[in-house]
Amino acid sequence: MTHKKIGKFSIDYLTSDIFEFIEAYVFSDSSEYSFLLNKQGKSIILHKEFVAEIRINKISEQLAFKLIQRGFLIGAHHGEQIAPIKIKYFIIDITKSCNFNCLYCFRNHLTNSQMSSDTISKIAMKIIGYCRKNDIKQIGIQAFGGEPLLYLEGIKSLCKCFSNSGIEVCIDVETNASLINDAIAKELMNLNIKVGVSIDGDEKAHNAQRRLADGSKSYEMVIQGIKNLKKYYFVDFSVINVLTKMNIDRIKDLIQFYIYDLNITNVKFNIVKDNPNAVESRLAPSTVQIERFAAELCDTIFAYYRMGIRFNEDNLLTRLQNLLSRTNNNFCLSNGCRGGEAMISIDCDGNIFPCETLDFPNEKLANIFDSTFEFDSIAEKKRQHDFFVHSGAKCENCPWEYYCKGGCASRRRYNGNKEEIDEVECAINKVIYPKLIELILSEPQTVDNMSGRITCHRT
Ligand code: SF4
Ligand code: SF4
Repeated sequence: MTHKKIGKFSIDYLTSDIFEFIEAYVFSDSSEYSFLLNKQGKSIILHKEFVAEIRINKISEQLAFKLIQRGFLIGAHHGEQIAPIKIKYFIIDITKSCNFNCLYCFRNHLTNSQMSSDTISKIAMKIIGYCRKNDIKQIGIQAFGGEPLLYLEGIKSLCKCFSNSGIEVCIDVETNASLINDAIAKELMNLNIKVGVSIDGDEKAHNAQRRLADGSKSYEMVIQGIKNLKKYYFVDFSVINVLTKMNIDRIKDLIQFYIYDLNITNVKFNIVKDNPNAVESRLAPSTVQIERFAAELCDTIFAYYRMGIRFNEDNLLTRLQNLLSRTNNNFCLSNGCRGGEAMISIDCDGNIFPCETLDFPNEKLANIFDSTFEFDSIAEKKRQHDFFVHSGAKCENCPWEYYCKGGCASRRRYNGNKEEIDEVECAINKVIYPKLIELILSEPQTVDNMSGRITCHRT
């Protein structure tokens, strides 16, 4: 798979308006079609005859129509209308307590506080006011921790605060599952809570990283919790698996374990961020390991889909959706880091941070109890934190720049290279995106099955 850039150019013979072709990358293999991705993250599949027209800057009316539809040709006087970003996802840190002590945890374990019911009510009141003022009908809230199920009363309070708000609120928890007995599983389902379970693979992989607070193994408890959850949720929950240098080379085994041993088909593999609070630092895999993982992830999942077995890896699916329809629906991977703009994190004391991984005192943006506090002013405060803005120099000629924008801001901050890129996301993108484009061009049926039929039509 090769790719070449076509620079921007203007044409003026279509109508009285002047149209501009947006700079784009053309990906070609040996087939008759090429995949075009422009600087605004929009895509189209074109027959090579049409690509030839673009290359010589002579676009027929038939092609121009398609290019206008897909956002490749825009009127010089009609720039892209970008809707203002609103906060749609709130991470609420209801407790800092945890019964686990995972090797890579970014939480400061010296604090054990729990959110008071007054703070929960105040947060809910402020969120409801913000949504009403901005005509936001639907939001997501994550009850975060620590281990959120240690404070089930806090989760129930959150649900109650929003129950008659007129806003559609999807509440989710990310839990280590060790506390999920039959009664809690049933209660979570009755409260309509979406559940994500943290588990790091099979027994060997999991116990090496995710330990109880006293250092003992946690695998058996987690598996029992998952079994209890399944009685009520069946397969309708997801799993987050953190990859470190210890388990990343076993990606095929891990996928096999989820499909055949646990019967779980929604998984997100997140690569560890070496951070200042981790019990054991330097767990991050090498670039070689990351590139090999990214290739194996694609090859393994594509192979399962070809066999008719559905296995959804969330970060892979997000990238596929980016390429097919630029949905901008992921706060980290669709249009750069939007922590502090589309999502925020609130700690037990009401302090607001751009992201739960950035809850350092000097990254605080405001406090919910400040007399002048408004959610509307948060994004502006975030932009004053310079590590959110990457220099761009390394990304200038990168086809994935619209989606990535230098990667995760917290990984850049943890690594102390504020102006540089997030090398982990960069390595992953450079393997996964070309593999996805190859699949889009060669196996549209497999892509349809993976994406839930978001199709990129051929022209
Ligand atoms: S700092 Fe990283 S994890 Fe947090 S919102 Fe930004 S990209 Fe996502
Ligand atoms: S970090 Fe890497 S993948 Fe991301 S935009 Fe920059 S060069 Fe591209």
